[in-house]
Order: sequence, then structure tokens, then C-alpha cells
Amino acid sequence: MILILAPDTDRNSEEFVGLMAHLKNMNNIQTRMHEEIGNQQVLTEIYLVGDTATLSLNDMANLPCVDRAVRVSQEYRILGRHKDDQRPTHFDYNGVRFGQDTLNVFAGLCAVDTPEHVEQTMQALQQHGQTCTRMGAYKPRTNPYSFQGHGKSCLPWVFELAGQYGIKVVAMEITHESHIDEITEALKQTGDPTGVMLQIGTRNTQNFELLKHVGRQHRFPVLLKRGFGITLEESLNAAEYLASEGNRHVIFALRGMKTNMGDPHRNFVDFAQVPVLKRLTRMPVCIDPSHSVGTREQAPDGILDVSHVTAQGIIAGANMVLVDFHPDPPSALVDGPQALLMKELPYFLEDVKIAREAYLKRCELATQYE
Ligand code: PEP
Ligand code: MN
Repeated sequence: MILILAPDTDRNSEEFVGLMAHLKNMNNIQTRMHEEIGNQQVLTEIYLVGDTATLSLNDMANLPCVDRAVRVSQEYRILGRHKDDQRPTHFDYNGVRFGQDTLNVFAGLCAVDTPEHVEQTMQALQQHGQTCTRMGAYKPRTNPYSFQGHGKSCLPWVFELAGQYGIKVVAMEITHESHIDEITEALKQTGDPTGVMLQIGTRNTQNFELLKHVGRQHRFPVLLKRGFGITLEESLNAAEYLASEGNRHVIFALRGMKTNMGDPHRNFVDFAQVPVLKRLTRMPVCIDPSHSVGTREQAPDGILDVSHVTAQGIIAGANMVLVDFHPDPPSALVDGPQALLMKELPYFLEDVKIAREAYLKRCELATQYE
């Protein structure tokens, strides 16, 4: 059960102290507190864990300081969507809103290579009104002899270029907790020119120690990829690890599943599950068409497979698109074959817009028939 306290409840007030004393006296119930500091107000939630089945929602809602009480199912207590749960389905980071009703495109390099390519990418993004990008500095590779990413050495110039071209959020995969410190240090050194969204890749979805570290920091939001060979439930529990450690600014990314049934795509595209995720949780949902499809193959209608699946995800309500672009794919150090060309960016964005408009129209239609 979650007790949602009245906004800006003073922790030193008599009522609050009384409430905590009351909860402490309850048998077999432990409490865990979470504070969400927003621009306008501070929201406090108290999680009651243990034998809560016998508690009356009404009684709990009538306790001092309590605004609402929500009974949560066993699963995804924090990130899940529960009955009569009106908690927000969005968060703001560095001036950008991420929610179940917004759409953000993160086009960029799978792996940072040269300053020229990074600059060309950022320049094109700015020209086309984009304020978010993806830039991989730490690359988990299947083959130990493959390029592993430039690591911390590229961070200062990547962040500086991002700031120069008005990029507000850079999605960047980390594979070890020390990378959080390296990113923090590079941002400090360069005067915080941009923001970073920490990405947890599909190979690390169940790296619980990494999840705990990332969950314990509150500065950066997190993009968690679905594990490519585990159930959706297991991946959602991984997201809950982040939230249970305190960071609930989590976006969940579908990126295709590893199965030969997915051939000829690199992975089996799972974007039909976008609405399922929005029904089960309050997380914004991202799709990664590049790592799902893995090629630049084109259908006879002239549309690239990458664009087809992007549209499929968006028309189903996706909130974020993580997509590989490169100014010169043949020279890309990672995943060149699936990268779109910079000159395809306006086309890609226009196609995204069409799919988004269709989705919004579909929502409108649905409300007419409710
Ligand atoms: C990536 O986005 O660069 C990546 C490696 O993705 P995934 O973890 O989904 O393979
Ligand atoms: Mn990649």
C-alpha cells in the first residue's frame, strides 16, 4: 500500500510525527519513504510493506497528512499502474518532458567515433529542431576484440559539442557504476553544457548491482532496455529495482527479442507491446528500431524496414525513439549497417510526425466510442 501525503507536508509537524509513530506501532508493517521534489511542490509517499491485506484503505486515507491511499499489487509497486492510481506518468529533466503522452526522438551515433562525426550529427539535429540525441561512449561488445567505445576520454568534447548545438539530453549507455562518476566529472569540468540519460543495455538488464547503483543516484534519468532473452515480467522487475532504490525517472525501451524467428531482422520486433507496457506501468515507453531491425533493407514500397517499425511503434503510442544515424556509415566503428544517413533525418522525422498524428487521431476516435 502507498500513502500519498498532502503536498509539502512538513516532516517536523506534529501530524507527521504522529503519523509515523502510528505506522511504527503497526504489527508486521515496515515503512519506506520516498520524496519527489518537483518544481512546484514536494510530494512524499510512504510505502507500507508487509501484512497490508487486512488494512482498510479508508482508514489509512483518513490518517493525518494522508491525501490518498493506493493499494498496490505485489508486482512493480512503484512503477506499476495500480487501481485508482493517479500518480503522474511523466517526469521533467533538463527542460524536457518525458511522459506516456509525449514523444521524443533520440537520433544519433551508436558509438562516438570522431569529433567531426559528432559535430556533423549535432549540427543536423539542431537544424531539424532536435534537442535530444544518443551517443555511445561505453560499448558492450559481443567480441572482446571489437572496438569498446572511447570511454571517458571522449566525454568532455561530446558534452561541449552537445551544448554548442542546443542538445539538452544525451542518452548514453553505461556498463559499470564508475561510468556515472566519469560522466558527472566530465559534465562538471565542461560546465554542465547538457544533460545525460543513463542507458542500461539489453546485456545488463538483469545486472542487479548496476541497477542498484544507478537507482541510488537521482541526478540522471534512466533508459532501461528490455532484456533480449528474458520475459517482459523479468525486465519490468529490473526497472522496479531502479525505482526501489529511489530513482523512478525511468523509461522502458523495447529493442526486439533475440530469436531466429525474427529473421531476417536482427531481432524479433516487439513493438506491439507498447500499449501493454503503458497499461502495466506508468513508465514512458521507448522503441529502438535500429537494434531491432539491424539493417537498411527497404520494402518494395520504398520505405526502410527501420522506418516501418518506427511508425508501427509510434502508431501504438510509443513515447521515445532511439535511432542510429551516422554521417558516414561505412566508417562507423559500431553498427554502421543499420545506421540511417544524416540526409535521411528530415524524411525520418516527417514520417515520425505522420505516425504520431495518426496515433493521436486514433486516441480521439477511441474516446468517441467509449
Ligand atoms: C545500443 O543502444 O547502443 C545498444 C547496444 O543497444 P542494446 O543494449 O539494445 O543492444
Ligand atoms: Mn548499436
